[in-house]
Amino acid sequence: GHGTTVRHRIAAVPADGVGTEVVAAGRRVLDALAERSGGAFALDWTELDWGSDHYARTGLMMPEDGLETLRGFDAIYFGAVGWPTVPDHVSLWGLRLKVCQGFDQWANVRPVTFYPGVTSPLRKADDTELDWVVVRENSEGEYAGFGGQNFGAREGTGQVAVQSAVFTETGCERIIRFAFDLARTRSRAKVSSVTKSNAQQYGMVLWDQVFAAVAADYPDVETESVLVDAMSAKFVLRPEDLSVVVASNLQADILSDLGSALAGSLGLASSANLNPEGRFPSMFEPVHGSAPDIAGQGVANPVGAIESGALMLEHLGLPEAARTLHAAVERTLADGVMTRDVGGTASTDEVVEAIVARLGG
Ligand code: ATP
Ligand code: MG
Repeated sequence: GHGTTVRHRIAAVPADGVGTEVVAAGRRVLDALAERSGGAFALDWTELDWGSDHYARTGLMMPEDGLETLRGFDAIYFGAVGWPTVPDHVSLWGLRLKVCQGFDQWANVRPVTFYPGVTSPLRKADDTELDWVVVRENSEGEYAGFGGQNFGAREGTGQVAVQSAVFTETGCERIIRFAFDLARTRSRAKVSSVTKSNAQQYGMVLWDQVFAAVAADYPDVETESVLVDAMSAKFVLRPEDLSVVVASNLQADILSDLGSALAGSLGLASSANLNPEGRFPSMFEPVHGSAPDIAGQGVANPVGAIESGALMLEHLGLPEAARTLHAAVERTLADGVMTRDVGGTASTDEVVEAIVARLGG
């Protein structure tokens, strides 16, 4: 017989646009997987109706006490924020970044996964050996919110706005160490550090110094330091040379969109916003945004959200369930069941049904 079922309390925050569609899709797949686990685990969902509609009703993307509400959960399953009726920086800072920063989710892990059957601009459909992961510093850097408007305008400048990046030794060290620890778990133990330290001589040079110091603790891990412009080219020209790529908040955000586009679609990319100490809940979300251009049509690619669910299962201590889920996604795409952003004709629902049908092995 089975032992006691381990129940995990999950807060679902679908938020805006296709976020609502892909979170619903992910929940269906995760629930089917839990059901098939024969009582090994269960997911207890609480859905929170935060986002741009909440903003229209209340003037806030989430309630004042939203973080307190979330604090008790084992994980947060997130959709996407952003809608044309709300300025982008209001929706982002009012919900997603509030959670990331409020819960010190300082490590953002974004795998770049190439799936069998999906044609990428880099490689033909049958070529699946590419696989790397972008580790994004998620608590400071260019997103520190440091600066202001109306900084000492002079004759002829018009308004002057300053937006500064803040790098702390502690912030750099923890994300770089995280990248090295992750590299040790992968088939190729290599960390590529990305900066623009030739041009940005304060923060990025500190990053380089911390990287060199941490690297000395990991003599078994290969390293390289690459400027962000060169790394953009490398993603396209020598991607087989990558394993773990660690970069600042803004630079890693840009590189991970590039990575997911190279893998075939932004709709495929998954991510985890981790508070590695486990003091606060971590948050799992697709890399893509709310995609207003295709929202409400039932055609959003649910794979990024579903694979984010796999990352969540891993985080909850359910690696076998995560592997089962990932394998079902791979088989579904290999069988040609995919949405139109990756050249298919399937709807979101059809992809969900195909994945659920393949959970059995
Ligand atoms: P954000 O600023 O929140 O990252 P964004 O402005 O970068 O958002 P997205 O909402 O991610 O933009 O959309 C970028 C493009 O990718 C759009 O053309 C959109 O239709 C497409 N896209 C995004 N997510 C998906 C998805 N799940 N399935 C199919 N296409 C998608
Ligand atoms: Mg984006």
